[in-house]
Amino acid sequence: MPQDSLSAGLSRTNSADGSGAPVRSSQVDQQRIARAVREILLAIGEDPDREGLRETPQRVARMYAELFAGLHARPEVHLQKFFTEKYDEIVLVKDISFNSMCEHHLLPFMGKAHIAYLPDGRVVGLSKLARVVEDISRRPQVQERMTEQIADLLMSQLQAKGVAVVIEAVHTCMVIRGVRKPESLCVTSAMRGIFRYNQSTRSEVLALIYGNRT
Ligand SMILES: [Zn+2]
Repeated sequence: MPQDSLSAGLSRTNSADGSGAPVRSSQVDQQRIARAVREILLAIGEDPDREGLRETPQRVARMYAELFAGLHARPEVHLQKFFTEKYDEIVLVKDISFNSMCEHHLLPFMGKAHIAYLPDGRVVGLSKLARVVEDISRRPQVQERMTEQIADLLMSQLQAKGVAVVIEAVHTCMVIRGVRKPESLCVTSAMRGIFRYNQSTRSEVLALIYGNRT
């Protein structure tokens, strides 16, 4: 087995801290992942050369490249094309489904994001909000940070009067291991601008998000 070189997987920098710092868009080092997966199979006492497992390391490597593609993305690019509108009521996109990976266990958590903003002259295409969720979720994540990253990015890029982000997710690390609570839903919210300091505006957006549920 070749010595690990300082490969793309280590030398890149990323903006997973939400700083929006530019990312050097190196590719995920799939060969390195494949070697590591083979090691894991050996470590659990499996035979990585048996027929069913022979292609597993490469398959997992391709999957990780897909699941972590957001590390090499710059979500702010989706918000750079905006339209000037006098619309000054809440814009809400509900039920944006996403899949992410819990960075503590590298197990998926999945759910829905609800994103609202109160424009101050700038509106974006609604699908762009889903693109932002996609880029920010496809990284090793924790739900709390993901919620804040989305809110802060929208707030800065749209220069909105306020942004509200609510995320509801099921964490498979709580379903299949540990406390094993399959029914539990983790809800996080991040309020910025007017949604943070104005109680009635905050109530209005939460009613819009949760309103039609029984
Ligand atoms: Zn976890």
